[in-house]
Amino acid sequence: MNDTLPSGLYIVATPIGNLQDVSRRAENTLRQADIVAAEDSRVTAKLLNHLGIKKQIVAYHDHVSEKTRSGLIEQMGEKVIALVSDAGTPLISDPGYKLVRDARAAGHLVTTIPGPCAAVAALTLAGLPTDRFLFAGFLPSKSKARTDVIEELGAVRATLVFYESGPRLGKSLLALAEGLGDREAAVAREISKKFEETVTGTLSELAARFADVPPKGEIVIIISPPGDSAPASEVDIDAALVESLQRLPPGKAAREVAKALNLPSDGLYERAMALKSET
Ligand code: SAM
Repeated sequence: MNDTLPSGLYIVATPIGNLQDVSRRAENTLRQADIVAAEDSRVTAKLLNHLGIKKQIVAYHDHVSEKTRSGLIEQMGEKVIALVSDAGTPLISDPGYKLVRDARAAGHLVTTIPGPCAAVAALTLAGLPTDRFLFAGFLPSKSKARTDVIEELGAVRATLVFYESGPRLGKSLLALAEGLGDREAAVAREISKKFEETVTGTLSELAARFADVPPKGEIVIIISPPGDSAPASEVDIDAALVESLQRLPPGKAAREVAKALNLPSDGLYERAMALKSET
């Protein structure tokens, strides 16, 4: 456990609330690090204090100057550099990918000390399918951009995972219910902390529940995949194509119908061409 670590970049996951969730490897790596690159040095100083570790902390996010990043990369040849974020796994809705990219390009050791991640923890709590999921980070706060993202995700056949904050939760759930239909969902809050809570229900039930009283703390929303609706019949497909062809050329009509009926568009294009030549 206390073998001397070789120089390089160590991506260290830290707790998402409960300090006891820091792993022994994470603690050991932070203890041996020459430099801790942190999103917010005050937050990381608290964790290090808790562990009784005193280290040089350097502020790091992906928008730092090239000079700052290349300075860290140069030092990786001789030093152990630990990358941490404020909570959870670095790079997951947190800074770090440019540092990892450049460290690897420079030929340095890049390794990870896996640990807590709110998205994964919430998936374990939701009681929804986990065989296929899409992590979508935070929804945009502007309403048009939010609607566009929700529309894009609507056809994805996977459980959806969003990060959210208390004040935005009600609005986001409402927009999700409107855009995705009334799917089963879960709101997991304050995971691993004193007031941990997971509320399940349909999106509209959850939107109603959190409409007037925004909850406190940190939140993950988990939404079940779209239901398995019966596949469209040939008659339905032809009717939809005929309607689309009145407004659109065959290629666009095929794509529109494919999206609306959740079908592959290639076969539809030939059918659209055939229907067009019949009229
Ligand atoms: N890198 C972190 C991870 O691995 O989960 C996520 C960082 S992201 C900037 C912060 C968001 O993660 C919060 O706004 C919240 O949506 C979610 N989150 C973090 N800790 C959480 C917790 N204890 N309970 C629920 N959600 C949490």
